Formats: sequence, C-alpha cells, structure tokens
Amino acid sequence: MRLFGRHGFKNISTSVEAKYHGLVNQGATCYLNSVLQVLFMTEDFREAVKRSSKQNVGIGLLGALTDLFDNLQKHTANTHKIITQLGISRVYEQRDAAECIEKILTMTSPVASQIFHGLLANQITCSKGHKETDRDAPFWHLPLSLVDFYNQDYSVVNGIEEFFRPTCLNGEHQMYCDRCGHKVDATITDVIKHHPDVLILLLKRFEFNYSYMSYFKTSCFVEVPYSLQIPGSEVYELYAVVDHFGGVRGGHYSATIKTQDEDRWYKFDDTQVTPLDYQPFQEK
Ligand SMILES: [Zn+2]
Repeated sequence: MRLFGRHGFKNISTSVEAKYHGLVNQGATCYLNSVLQVLFMTEDFREAVKRSSKQNVGIGLLGALTDLFDNLQKHTANTHKIITQLGISRVYEQRDAAECIEKILTMTSPVASQIFHGLLANQITCSKGHKETDRDAPFWHLPLSLVDFYNQDYSVVNGIEEFFRPTCLNGEHQMYCDRCGHKVDATITDVIKHHPDVLILLLKRFEFNYSYMSYFKTSCFVEVPYSLQIPGSEVYELYAVVDHFGGVRGGHYSATIKTQDEDRWYKFDDTQVTPLDYQPFQEK
C-alpha cells in the first residue's frame, strides 16, 4: 500500500514531538498496527477524528481511535479497544492491511475519512467524439496488479498509465451512441471525478492461482516514485508505505512514514520506531 498526499498536503504538524511511539502486537496484528500508524501520522485525519469524537461523545471506533491517538502521542500504546470495535476475534490470524484500512475508514466518521475518498467514473467517447460518463464508483484505493510482473521490475508510473489507458470497443463490443443514433466504435476510460486529498495505491502482490488452487505472491521489485502525476489531477507526493514481508501464510507488515517537518522517514514496526537513513522511493 502506498499513500500519496496532494502537493502541499500536511501529514504531520510541527507541534508533534520528534519522537514517535510504537504499538504492541496483540498476536499477529502487525497489519493493524501499520495501518493505525499511517492514520495517526496523517494529521488531517487525526484532527478530524478528534473533532468528530467530541461531537459524538467518543463512542464506538471513533472513541477508540481518539484514545489511541492520545496515547500514541505520549507512549507505546496497545490496540485492545480498536480490536474489540473492529470485531477482530482471532488476533493470531494475520489479515490484509488494505482490507483493514478500508474497514476502519468505513466505520469511522465520514468527516474524518473523506480525505481518502475518491470517485471514479467511466468516460465513453464515441468515434465522432461524443462523450458520456457513467457509473460513479466511490473508492478508497486504486488497485494496481503486480502479478504479471513475476520476473521483472514493476513501475508504479507505468502502472498508473496503464490504469488510465483507454480500452477500445469495436466489432461486437461497439457501443450505442445516443447522439449518433446507432452503434459505433468507442473508447472507454476510467477517469477520477473526485480526487482524494490522500491517494492510496494498492499494489496487489497476492493472487489466487486456479492451476494450483492456492494464493501466491509475486516478490518483484517495485519502483515507487516520490511524486506521481495522476491524469487530470495535481501531483501527489509519497508520504507513507505499508509493506508486507515474507510468504502468503504469515509474513510481517511494517509501515514507513515521512514526517513533514523533519523531512525524515521513520520505520514503524510494532513497538519499534526507527529513523531511517534511506528513502523508500525511486530516486530521479
Ligand atoms: Zn456519437
């Protein structure tokens, strides 16, 4: 998972102390810890959670997040309340970090989660240039599949280009155009109707293989740029990365996050928080 903030987006304020705190692993909850650290370090989200919690007297997941964020500013924290609110009964079972962040964003206050919220639509252009958009689809992340890149490097820039590449509809796939009044060749393109303040890219390394009837993971090298141009939008800058190490059954998640005031990257690995002397993105 890669999180990009719109250019000029503030993920952490200067008022936060330079020291950061870890989260206790409750079994195999490193996926949850990584996601929570990313949300904590996203200042707009953290502040919105606090404001919404005051209005709603801190009940449910919102209240648990507010308590956790308060604790994280002071010391190493545990995630018992969050785990209860998310209904996680088997803490020794590792889950998917992307599903986890979506669940949290869906369950928390819409005011807080809106900075991650985007809207995709299909734009159909007929061969005469008539345009039509349909199918508004809300999204929390853009999925980029890595499974075809088993033995080669994967470039996020190329992946995004591919994602927004028009698909040609011709032959038996021709579309009916209202303005032409008959079926015509056309192209269909995904367009972002609403650009989120924070864009989450999900790099899908896991896929179910029907020949083997099991999941497999591609461990290809991924080139992640520091700044990313999304078609029709401003430039996004990378500030957080959630990585999975190891195999399909198990492995380990950690988060690497940039603090804005220090312009420094930290690795959040459960209770361990370490400043880094390298940058987890592609150098220009
Ligand atoms: Zn037309």
